[in-house]
Amino acid sequence: MAIATINPATGETLKTYEPLSDAALEEKIARAATAWASYRRTSAEQRAGWLRAAADVLDTDAGTVAELMTTEMGKTLASAKAEVAKCAAALRWYAEHGPAMLEPEPKDAAAVKAQAAYVVHQPIGVVLAIMPWNFPLWQAMRFAAPALMAGNVGLLKHASNVPQTALYLEELFRRAGFPDDVFQTLLIGSSAIEKVLRDDRVAAATLTGSAPAGQSVASIAGDALKKTVLELGGSDPFIVMPSANLDKAAEVAVTARNQNNGQSCIAAKRFFVHRDVAEEFTRLFAEKIGALTVGDPMDEGTQVGPLATESGREDVEKYVDDAVAKGAAVLVGGKRVDRPGWFYEPTLLSGITPEMDLYFEEVFGPVAALFTVDSLGEAIEIANSHPYGLGANLWSEDEDERAEFIADVASGMAFVNGMVTSYPDLPFGGVKQSGYGRELTEVGMREFMNAKTVWIG
Ligand code: NDP
Repeated sequence: MAIATINPATGETLKTYEPLSDAALEEKIARAATAWASYRRTSAEQRAGWLRAAADVLDTDAGTVAELMTTEMGKTLASAKAEVAKCAAALRWYAEHGPAMLEPEPKDAAAVKAQAAYVVHQPIGVVLAIMPWNFPLWQAMRFAAPALMAGNVGLLKHASNVPQTALYLEELFRRAGFPDDVFQTLLIGSSAIEKVLRDDRVAAATLTGSAPAGQSVASIAGDALKKTVLELGGSDPFIVMPSANLDKAAEVAVTARNQNNGQSCIAAKRFFVHRDVAEEFTRLFAEKIGALTVGDPMDEGTQVGPLATESGREDVEKYVDDAVAKGAAVLVGGKRVDRPGWFYEPTLLSGITPEMDLYFEEVFGPVAALFTVDSLGEAIEIANSHPYGLGANLWSEDEDERAEFIADVASGMAFVNGMVTSYPDLPFGGVKQSGYGRELTEVGMREFMNAKTVWIG
């Protein structure tokens, strides 16, 4: 894939980049290793100060960075602005809470026959972050804020279609006053990742993206005995039970599916509705999807913009066409929008069966798959039959149903009466083919730290 900015709203190539030469890549890795030798010795308070400064830079640049993201991957300008604000908040969150998380953890010295016993959390070094285009600033920040707080150094290999946002991230941390080279962007294709990952100066890797990319990175890292965190795809269930507030559930369902033009790993993708309320929920859901405004993502009134890439739209189209050919009913949408750029209509399908390709895959676009079920148990059983297990949503006022859902749904996150979202205050990640490890909170920060046991006799 060429490293280039191609505006998905028009299909126009705006800027292309040459990938780094081998020599330039080597220099960047060497610089990262040199930077870590001194950065690891900075104090937590110093690092917190730089994180706060980065948040201030983001506040200043909010408008231009948001426009850049919209130009590169087509998210609406309003959601791009919200993404910038979320990144600034995460930087401030780690600046506020990070230093306390890095304090030594005392242990019971008498129990281990010591004068003192404790755990110190130390940074592990240079971490390679392989990131996707769908939330080009947030996905990278979810790695960068805790990593830099911890005293690690980052090398970012961003998706090839968001090179300008990738370069901005390097500039952001430099302007915030971080020491030279603690966060560098590598303009490389995915074929160059193995070389970086196998380099002795690189300690670990984190990847957010598709399952095949995760498999490739995890197998190389496994061979090189390096730690990885993987945040892969999802096909989150959204279960609606009879006690739910149907109007509210339908409203949130529309956002949960169509946020980011339908391209979010934690988007609700499969909707399981109890038979007693199926007719009413379907009516509300279809009406609200049909009312979405599709258009130029730079326009204030637009709710759904184009898909990020031409091939992404082709994938969505194939899934819908295959489902329809095998008997699915199109309740709303179901085809591309007749205009330049990679637009696809917000779509609602019912009558989904396991023979359809979309049943066991992740549809990365604004397509909702509707199922009618007779019980919560049935909804959970179908939900769990999917290879992914990222987030899950339940709408119910019934305490027993909530308990059953939390106990039985196979996912990394379970949200009741609200949509799955990421917050710095909550761990984020999945199970099964959705990956392993967690991001955010102290759990995320410690994924790339050495919990060193100290025993003093
Ligand atoms: P990819 O997984 O291909 O891209 C994500 C990142 O991984 C990019 O930086 C990409 O680089 C890199 N990459 C791609 N292939 C490999 C590889 N073999 N080894 C190492 N790194 C690799 O996502 P796509 O953009 O192609 O989207 C495909 C599907 O992935 C979507 O339809 C969706 O299902 C899923 N996805 C999930 C995301 C999530 O948030 N969980 C985000 C994006 C996609 P490069 O751009 O240079 O290829």
